Amino acid sequence: MKKILIIGGGISGAATLHYLSQKYTPQEASVILLEKENTIGGTVGSIPKDNNIFEAGPNGFLGNSSQTFELVKELGLDNELLCANEDAKYRHIYTDRKHHMLPTSLSSFLGFELLPVREKIRLISCIFKRLEFDERMTVGEFAEKNIGEHFKKFLMDPMVSGIYGGGVDELNLCAAFPRFAQILKSGKSLFQYRFTNRKKPKANKGLYTFKGGMQAPLNQIAAKYKDQINYNQTIEQVTYKDQKYRVKTHDQEYEADQVVLSVPAYVAAKMLDSFNPKLAGALGAIDYAPIAVVGLAFKQEDVIDLPVGFGLLIPSVEDNQVLGVLFESQIYPNRYNPHEVVFRVMIGGTHHRAIVEHSEKEIVARALKELAMQFSIKNLPQTTFFKLWNKAIPQYTNNYLDRIKTINEELKMQPGLHIVANYYKGVSFNDCIKNAFQTAANIEI
Ligand SMILES: Cc1cc2nc3c(=O)[nH]c(=O)nc-3n(C[C@H](O)[C@H](O)[C@H](O)COP(=O)(O)OP(=O)(O)OC[C@H]3O[C@@H](n4cnc5c(N)ncnc54)[C@H](O)[C@@H]3O)c2cc1C
Repeated sequence: MKKILIIGGGISGAATLHYLSQKYTPQEASVILLEKENTIGGTVGSIPKDNNIFEAGPNGFLGNSSQTFELVKELGLDNELLCANEDAKYRHIYTDRKHHMLPTSLSSFLGFELLPVREKIRLISCIFKRLEFDERMTVGEFAEKNIGEHFKKFLMDPMVSGIYGGGVDELNLCAAFPRFAQILKSGKSLFQYRFTNRKKPKANKGLYTFKGGMQAPLNQIAAKYKDQINYNQTIEQVTYKDQKYRVKTHDQEYEADQVVLSVPAYVAAKMLDSFNPKLAGALGAIDYAPIAVVGLAFKQEDVIDLPVGFGLLIPSVEDNQVLGVLFESQIYPNRYNPHEVVFRVMIGGTHHRAIVEHSEKEIVARALKELAMQFSIKNLPQTTFFKLWNKAIPQYTNNYLDRIKTINEELKMQPGLHIVANYYKGVSFNDCIKNAFQTAANIEI
């Protein structure tokens, strides 16, 4: 019987455990997940507090990945799915002390005040022509070259920092938005591409979560595979000798034929340092953005003038530590105390790395100050939630492309070593599940 070890139980490792356990019977392969904490989930964490659920990490996943919906079904969670409110399609940009609603129709686009007329014309014409692009372009360069400075500053910049906590002039277009890059690489206009690919099955629209929060699939995997998960196992070293991997904690050693690394890149780097310094070097050089998450629940009557919608993003020209604010109780109204308004304030990112040196008290105070500045808030919150991620989201920069090239070359020469993690093939919850599925399908014993 072959042995496969998965190291790290975030959504990447947990989904890999599920797919490999479906693929092989216990007689064919032993599949074991080793997790540092006493629970699985990693960045995913749904914390119930005073009749609300606060998310420490992702608060939803887009409906455009059939892989995630299949996993949900396989885990028996169909009835637990929760779709975001219809009004969550309204999103805002906060700049110059004003909320600007992002256009959702042609008429609102024509009236959208953050884009000058020439950029609106260029944006529309972009749908029908081949766009200027090369593989080393940053998102910012692409946006400015093809459309203009305002589009970059007020639309792409906040969108990129909302997803990655990173800078529009640092993130590489192909790495950060691979599906869009695929269209650009095809040499077709967006219109032509859409036209020739229209037979593909239609994806679900909108944003989804679970009644019990994003932790629900992790809880289900933890229960379903409870005999295959070893908790409180901090892996310190992975070595390879005589076609076997040796995976070590400070007082225990496991042996395996294949190893799936599902820990953050800087953790994997330390584990591999002694047996493959080149691979470890490339992994260790992947940059991460810090992010603090502050959840705040106010009495409904204490919040006045809240715009309708998903939330708001703040462009980096504002030089504001706050990246954005999500109106959680408007996104998933059924999941929150009906008498409260719940916000999630995201603070930090690569423009404000010093956030990691601030105390919880300082960061919560910063979040409260921002809300008080933007809205009429009469009293202090009823409940506060706080989580600081020193290394929250990997940065898919131009340098990142070089690291990944090295990582891929080294993996090719290292049989039985695999990576399923958010720094490898996409940061989103959906990407992690897709990568887990594909890796499990490719593993041969
Ligand atoms: C604040 C925030 C908000 C986000 N919002 C969204 C969103 O709304 N939608 C979306 O799609 N994505 C979102 N993301 C991104 C997404 O949540 C993550 O990319 C994804 O959850 C990462 O999963 P992972 O399994 O690859 O890594 P992780 O979640 O980092 O899991 C790694 C696991 O490895 C374990 N581990 C670490 N060291 C060791 C060791 N030495 N030995 C054993 N185990 C170890 C950890 O305990 C952890 O369980 C968000 C991320 C953050 C930080």
